[in-house]
Amino acid sequence: MSTNDQKKPQINSENHDTIGLLAIDNKGNISGACTTSGWAYKLHGRVGDSPIIGAGLYVDNEIGGACATGLGEAVIRICGSHTVVELMRQGHSPNIACKLAVERIIKSHENLEGLQVGFIGSK
Ligand code: ASP
Repeated sequence: MSTNDQKKPQINSENHDTIGLLAIDNKGNISGACTTSGWAYKLHGRVGDSPIIGAGLYVDNEIGGACATGLGEAVIRICGSHTVVELMRQGHSPNIACKLAVERIIKSHENLEGLQVGFIGSK
């Protein structure tokens, strides 16, 4: 078994921990925050979605905001949080916008084993 073989942890809800939040003040201004420790056992130097605006977090005060959790590479590939906000701009509810973004990720992956992603959206 090579060193790489030994570093293939089971990816599940117990070894990642993004915290994303969206808040709206009494004037309707939206803000968001996103923090994560990233995947457990991640490759040295890996950058996940959380620190990338548009991937792990995106807010447009005219429309709404979104945050992501799960496999950052999958979220980055579709500019996930930005996609959710753009879908809301097109008239979708936050719930449907999040669902459509997840479906876009599903479509772009042949193998869904171990793939976990989720979004929250608000407008
Ligand atoms: N999204 C994070 C990352 O890919 C993982 C997590 O959900 O904590 O780094």
